[in-house]
Amino acid sequence: MSPLYAGVIIDKPHPLLDRLFHYSIPAGLEDYIKPGIRVSVPFGANNKPTTGYVFEINQDTSFPPDKIKQIKEALETYPLLLPKFIPIVYWMKKEYHCLTIEAVRCFVPNLSKSMAVNADSSNDHEMEFIKESDVSLTNEQQNAVNLMEQALIEGSGNFIFEGVTGSGKTEVYIRLAQRASEKEKQTIILVPEISLTPQTVERFKNRFGSMVSILHSRLSSSERLKHWHNIRMGLTKIVVGARSAVFAPINQLGLIIIDEAHEDSYKSDQRPRYHAIDVARKRCEIGGGVLVLGSATPRIEDSFLEGKLYRRIAITQRVEQRPMPPVKIVDMREEITKGNRSIISKHLYMALKQVLAKGEQAILLINRRGYAQFVLCRSCGFVVMCQNCHVSLTYHQEGNILKCHYCGLKKAYPAVCPECKSKYIKNFGLGTQKVQEELNKFFPDAKTVRMDMDTTTKKDSHQTILDAFKKGEYDFLLGTQMIAKGLDFPNVTLVGVVTADTSLNLPDYRNGEKTFQLVAQVAGRTGRSVKGGKVIVQTYQPEHYAVEFASRHDYRGFFQKEIEIRKTLNYPPFTHIVRILMTGEQNITLSALCNSAAQLLKQKISQNSSLIEGVLNVGVCPAPLEKINGKYRWQILIRLKRDEQVLDQCHAVIDELCSSLPVTEERVIIDFYPVSLL
Ligand code: ADP
Ligand code: ZN
Ligand code: ZN
Repeated sequence: MSPLYAGVIIDKPHPLLDRLFHYSIPAGLEDYIKPGIRVSVPFGANNKPTTGYVFEINQDTSFPPDKIKQIKEALETYPLLLPKFIPIVYWMKKEYHCLTIEAVRCFVPNLSKSMAVNADSSNDHEMEFIKESDVSLTNEQQNAVNLMEQALIEGSGNFIFEGVTGSGKTEVYIRLAQRASEKEKQTIILVPEISLTPQTVERFKNRFGSMVSILHSRLSSSERLKHWHNIRMGLTKIVVGARSAVFAPINQLGLIIIDEAHEDSYKSDQRPRYHAIDVARKRCEIGGGVLVLGSATPRIEDSFLEGKLYRRIAITQRVEQRPMPPVKIVDMREEITKGNRSIISKHLYMALKQVLAKGEQAILLINRRGYAQFVLCRSCGFVVMCQNCHVSLTYHQEGNILKCHYCGLKKAYPAVCPECKSKYIKNFGLGTQKVQEELNKFFPDAKTVRMDMDTTTKKDSHQTILDAFKKGEYDFLLGTQMIAKGLDFPNVTLVGVVTADTSLNLPDYRNGEKTFQLVAQVAGRTGRSVKGGKVIVQTYQPEHYAVEFASRHDYRGFFQKEIEIRKTLNYPPFTHIVRILMTGEQNITLSALCNSAAQLLKQKISQNSSLIEGVLNVGVCPAPLEKINGKYRWQILIRLKRDEQVLDQCHAVIDELCSSLPVTEERVIIDFYPVSLL
């Protein structure tokens, strides 16, 4: 038999090392050296022992046998990287323009030198149990379980599970995971963030006991490794975690359930910039498994693929026939007219007062997405827009000027409102702290707790704040987007959205969608008990369709309208937007670099027959968030026709472009599926 060689990916993230290195296999190790095995190999001129992963076993290589080095040892007896993940690794490399090893590192535990994966499993598991549920499912819930269980038996199926807030989706997830485990299959359940969804996580723990692994970000590395090992060995039946749990080393995959699947936290903000939904779909496609995207407000791009990629199952009623809370829209333009300069409207003030009188609780949401950037007239609601692109112009401090980041249009900062001549026109922004001050002024005796980036830096602060609020230690919970997720507090009878608009006026085509999601989700936090509840939404654009549909809890209506607009304006999902973001310390050098990259890109496009047709436009501009953490940000946005071949060619051209850019990886971010253009 001719000798075998192993193609190895070296565990060093460097573009020049991003290829297979071939090694011979020492006699006696032939049975161990298989794809996915972690090995130690001599590497470089001085043959330093270096870790790598075997990707292929080949009969021959182009190397002369005397030049080839030999694998030193196998580091485990079983593949740390499941061989079935190798195609996903290659797919990620292409999709996300990352290095092979960066994708591998998503799937394997982070092993410090002193830690080895313990292959003998001293099983300290308590008794496994599944606690029977005490609720009987509604017809809609039962129907959903039946349909998805059928797919589970067949081994595949992608579902959009669209259920209004409070419709009992979690109960459906639990039943499904239970069915899967009866069939010897494992389940991954993703939640947007463990610390923000303590109640959901608690329910899985109560029901599944030691069969479930909860992957907190607070786990120590040895705890994390132990979970990883239990999952890898099939001891864990159910994995609950945030986005990175999509890489859990499950072998018998039955289901991947993604709760609140519309959340942007499923998109990684570091290399590789994967989206958990896409990785999950790929996993199911390659290895078999059912994908369930649960949400009251599914992403437009997912709903658009209903019938093509997804089947839709809807739950339209809350459990126990509880009504959806009534939503009152308050027109903030009238407040100014009436002389109320406060950010708390008369209406909201009265409602808060009532809550206090009854000893109930309220949640107040301040939308902080893209804080202080667009220019709004507080008298008439006018927002300065780009006439070409239908997005608001962005305020740029430098030069005191407004710009469109899609097409580069510039405008002077208006001194008075072009519509109504009012002087109440200015760049708009509002912090939680400011709102808390206002509340303290109006309600000096009320106890208010704030949950935002500033108050939740400590490890357990989310939990502490939420627990205290639940116990009734506070009257008002005030916070950013963080508080819009799966909370369930029976005593909350009022939800106020202080500023619905901040999402509507950013230079991002997803504004309508984001605003709809936010209002609909936060509205779902009330009316969850017999006490009922209501919602007050303050806005400068009460007639905006996103606000209107959200106030009627009408996702379907919103979807129809939004998809029409996207089609008319040629935005995704009808086109594809690729973003190249560059950052740097010096604005002048950065802008020069970004502009020359764009020039080069345009040149490459003009030489490529499918891209000449396929690229609709290329825009270069400072990012709307022009400077973050002292670093300047510029971006190139490429709008493409939605076409597989065009996309493929664009990947190739951008790969070429990158290799000719004189900058390091971390300063250029390539994103084919950006969730934000800010
Ligand atoms: P969603 O995730 O759709 O917002 P949840 O799963 O949180 O809804 O369910 C809301 C509440 O209703 C939870 O307290 C849950 O225990 C309860 N619940 C779920 N299903 C039923 C049912 N069939 N009958 C009664 N209560 C239910
Ligand atoms: Zn005006
Ligand atoms: Zn424009």
